[in-house]
Amino acid sequence: MEGGAYIAIAISFGIATGVIGRAKGSSFLIWFAVGAVLPLLGLLAVILFRSDRNEPERRCPTCNKVVKLYVQVCPRCGTDLYLPDPSEVRTPD
Ligand SMILES: [Zn+2]
Repeated sequence: MEGGAYIAIAISFGIATGVIGRAKGSSFLIWFAVGAVLPLLGLLAVILFRSDRNEPERRCPTCNKVVKLYVQVCPRCGTDLYLPDPSEVRTPD
């Protein structure tokens, strides 16, 4: 029963991928689907996936909204965000 074996593998990888994805602060269901559709690639993807939680943040100088360092335009007030003063950058723990 090759079909049954494939489904068992897909579900196993889906669960493993989903658990890792959730541990990284993402959605279990999204990563479960990725892991089930692409068993090995999905698992690799979630391992390499960088959690947003670990991205450095800084504060918008105009409206004080906290945004990720890679954000170039403030989503709240539209201010162009250039490279910040290093003292304003903080890494969430
Ligand atoms: Zn702003």
